[in-house]
Amino acid sequence: MLKLPIYFDNNATTPCDPRVVEAMLPYFTEKFGNAASRTHAFGWEGEEAVEQAREQVARLIGAEPKEIVFTSGATEADNLAIKGVFEMYAAKGSHIITVATEHKAVLDTCHHIGKLGGEVTYLPVSREGLVDLRTLEAAIRPSTVLIAVMYANNEIGVIQPIREISGIARKHGVLFFVDAAQAAGKVPVHVQSDGIDLLAMSAHKLYGPKGVGALYVRRRDPRVRLTAQMDGGGHERGMRSGTLNVPAIVGFGKACELCRLEMATEAVRVSGLRDRLEAGLLQLEQVFVNGSRQHRLPGTVNLSFRGAPAEGLITMINKNIALSSGSACTSASLEPSYVLKALGLDDDLAHSSLRFGLGRFNTENEVDYAISQLRMGVERLRAQSPMWETYKEQNGVKNR
Ligand SMILES: *Cc1c(COP(=O)(O)O)cnc(C)c1O
Repeated sequence: MLKLPIYFDNNATTPCDPRVVEAMLPYFTEKFGNAASRTHAFGWEGEEAVEQAREQVARLIGAEPKEIVFTSGATEADNLAIKGVFEMYAAKGSHIITVATEHKAVLDTCHHIGKLGGEVTYLPVSREGLVDLRTLEAAIRPSTVLIAVMYANNEIGVIQPIREISGIARKHGVLFFVDAAQAAGKVPVHVQSDGIDLLAMSAHKLYGPKGVGALYVRRRDPRVRLTAQMDGGGHERGMRSGTLNVPAIVGFGKACELCRLEMATEAVRVSGLRDRLEAGLLQLEQVFVNGSRQHRLPGTVNLSFRGAPAEGLITMINKNIALSSGSACTSASLEPSYVLKALGLDDDLAHSSLRFGLGRFNTENEVDYAISQLRMGVERLRAQSPMWETYKEQNGVKNR
């Protein structure tokens, strides 16, 4: 039986896997020690749990445990990476290269750096949402200290050419930071073969708890140094002070392990669901996939429905289907998505777009139900839309 409402907003956050919750539970009660307490068994138990989680997180991305710095999430990891490099490498220069479609946690951090006197280049993307490698290489200056490009986009799921970018960064001796909040746990991410120097992750995007994440900081070839953004007790090798959230970190570790073991089969299943949803909705006329269909996450599809404003569509179906018109972080505003605008969509189409984030717990029944609900919704909105009428008249689109 179908259980409503259906959750199709897994790019905003994922539910905790029950196996993750189970692993966390003892660390709230009997195993409550402070991982930094060195003088008794309560502390040792906490520390041991944290170190095991560190290994699990590291293993998912091909890192060494010592290269993992636990944070409160990807937003903090993004801030620590960008501000930490900007401050530490000030003697080399103060130029950062990033991309117009990055997450707000990266863009707003870069804006902040701009106000501090740093220089930031925001690269455009193609219609497909991809960075152009020649444009990127041409943007590098002697004063460039960091290239920040996300692994996969949260709104359109597009995966950037990470290995090619890291090749360019290496060639010019520039550090390469990757926000992998959406990619880690969904597709193979490997800091060695991908040539990544710093990488941000978030537990709640990969079926772990909210409020915990990590920054990978390369220790060799090259050794990356950072200025801490949180001063205090010197936890996390001085890079992030503050008592560790042991239960959350344990859950994060467990979630990473499950992703590592199940990623291959899960990606096939979830992309199958995504393709089924996409095919079902593309049966409607004037529906468009936003971003590259070839280079994208298994569970993500972003669609524009001409003549059917997303606001209206969401209001019609959101009792039964949870989805979003953009990122959770910016959906409070009525501005059209800056990501879709960067792809070159006009305002009308950008306002008529929905992001579907499918995940581990979605089923084929849910997809089929969503297809029928959305088809009805789109047709109903179009029937009331003067814009759709005009569009049809001008372009000779046939009514079905
Ligand atoms: C969700 C997300 C973030 C923010 O992560 P939090 O852990 O919620 O702070 C950053 N970048 C991307 C790409 C995201 O999808």
